[in-house]
Amino acid sequence: MSDLSIVVTHAGAREERTVTTGTRAWELYADDADVIAARVNGVLCDLAHELRDGDEVEGVAIDSKHGRDILRHSTAHVMAQAVQQLWPDARLGIGPPIENGFYYDFDVETPFHPDDLDKIETAMRKIIKEGQRFSRRPVADAEALAELKDEPYKLELIGLKGSGHGEDAAEGANVEVGGSADGELTIYDNLRRDGNLAWKDLCRGPHLPTTKRIPAFKLMRTAAAYWRGDEKNKQLQRIYGTAWESKDALAAYLAQIAEAEKRDHRKLGRELDLYSFPEELGPGLVVFHPKGGVIRRVMEDYVRRRHIEEGFSYVSTPHISKDGLFHTSGHLPYYADTMYPPMELEGARYQLKAMSCPMHNLIYQSRGRSYRELPLRLFEFGGVYRYEKSGVVGGLTRVRGLTQDDSHSYVTPEQAADEIKHLLNFCLGLFRDFGLEDFYLELSTRGDTPKDKFQGSEEDWATAEAILQQAADESGLELVPDPGGAVFYGPKISIQAKDAIGRTWQLSTVQYDFGQPAGFGLEYVAADGSHQQPVMIHSAKFGSIERFIGVLVEHYAGAFPPWLSPVQVQGIPIAERHVAYLEDVAKQMSERGLRVEIDDSDDRMQKKIRNAQLQKVPFMVIAGDQDMEARAVSFRYRDGRQDNGVPVSEAVERVAAAVASREQV
Ligand SMILES: [Zn+2]
Ligand SMILES: [Zn+2]
Repeated sequence: MSDLSIVVTHAGAREERTVTTGTRAWELYADDADVIAARVNGVLCDLAHELRDGDEVEGVAIDSKHGRDILRHSTAHVMAQAVQQLWPDARLGIGPPIENGFYYDFDVETPFHPDDLDKIETAMRKIIKEGQRFSRRPVADAEALAELKDEPYKLELIGLKGSGHGEDAAEGANVEVGGSADGELTIYDNLRRDGNLAWKDLCRGPHLPTTKRIPAFKLMRTAAAYWRGDEKNKQLQRIYGTAWESKDALAAYLAQIAEAEKRDHRKLGRELDLYSFPEELGPGLVVFHPKGGVIRRVMEDYVRRRHIEEGFSYVSTPHISKDGLFHTSGHLPYYADTMYPPMELEGARYQLKAMSCPMHNLIYQSRGRSYRELPLRLFEFGGVYRYEKSGVVGGLTRVRGLTQDDSHSYVTPEQAADEIKHLLNFCLGLFRDFGLEDFYLELSTRGDTPKDKFQGSEEDWATAEAILQQAADESGLELVPDPGGAVFYGPKISIQAKDAIGRTWQLSTVQYDFGQPAGFGLEYVAADGSHQQPVMIHSAKFGSIERFIGVLVEHYAGAFPPWLSPVQVQGIPIAERHVAYLEDVAKQMSERGLRVEIDDSDDRMQKKIRNAQLQKVPFMVIAGDQDMEARAVSFRYRDGRQDNGVPVSEAVERVAAAVASREQV
């Protein structure tokens, strides 16, 4: 037997190895139970993949991103096998991994009942116990068509693949037919220990070596879904599930979901009377009620002040513009899909603004600029409108009308690196003030996306990507590459923040733009008198005010720190005769800029306390006869602690201090 030279990589280290012909990837990882697949020359493969001379091999751990995808997709196979055991007439749609889980679509006579999930889970456990092997088998198209003659949806996918539309067949369909460079189809057989075929599915793979390698899973819910996402097609029944590398990881995920449901900002928005989404307005459009309005105003005041402190000038621009402006900026045609359709007026076409940058460019251009003015920083709360599909709008996190804290720094090319560092630090400082502490960065570059999707020269991109990379490295934060994620006009850094229950939200973006300054012909007069083109750096701190408020509501579970709380102090008179006294206390607090409400309803004191707790008010001041005599109040905290006989002046100071420090209480 001849030998093969291969390279085994692990955590960036490379090790040259000699193995015998016929060696399969799993043999390299026989004593590493966490490795469930291999990346061979950059391509994800089953562990049963046979190695060739010169291969570069890396193990894929079950708890890595790709490892989890493979685990979840393999679990989808097990679920489909179980469903076809229980409902032999069920026909298969597609079954891709998704964020935190997987689904599989089925064509069944009657929709699944929630109780069916238990039955399916029981059947899945049996399949997992059997330790069925996932065995890859390449097939010619004709063979696949014959073998899958009873699976009309798979046949359709094979047909689409033949026409070169495999990738477009359906979201997630390339799990079945896409990907393979030579267009080869593969069927995965699930083989029992005795070698008998238990089940099979058309699939590109890879999968776990055996069903036994599924440590923990749970089926979550069912939903209806049109075949290939098209409402003209038949409605299939989708089952969602999740799978994890350990029972603990599954338990942690389920706990996080339960906690997230309790914190759902749509639910809390109703309960706390913050905002609503009237149907009369249309999908994705929100109105803020007085209490939500307080949060918004406090946030905006703070953000406006911080921008001015960081060298920005506050400007204002309209909500609509003639469409030519968006052609000059390059947003049309690149961005047309996400803009509202144009309206005609006096022979011109107008568009709703989807971003403020083009209008800021007009402010820059309104007169000649000298290098002495740079960096020139413009900032506004821009009301912008973006067309999101009605299926994806939901709550404050995906809206069609939003307020962007959109700011632009115009700098000389030499100033760009410092400005980006300045903006990153600015953003991080803002988030810390809003109680977010845990961040990482994502650097979006062009990757392998076709170059015609982007403006600018090779050199522009190389410079910009290097500057962002350096700024990100210097931040000391974890940096995750996002090749292919760049916007058409330049690369960007995004700040991702973790909330109180460990979920990640993308907040700020800092984008380097050479396209718009060129498109608008922006210039400044340099020190040597020559005319030069500035670099434009876009930075949205919160992305949108609406979305950020949604994130904050969930992060704090509605219990805002005092500085953001719509009502900071609830006054609770024990009896009617204490109302006037509390009104005087409230007046003293209001004079200090604090927000106080008095509950003068007929409810008993305990009920009033309970109501204030439900409204998550940070402080209560309770007054009865003794308090009135002593010019004092009973001072009650959110957690139920209560100090009796606190002099009024001290109560005012306690609240004022908590507000000023922006602390959580
Ligand atoms: Zn598969
Ligand atoms: Zn912009």
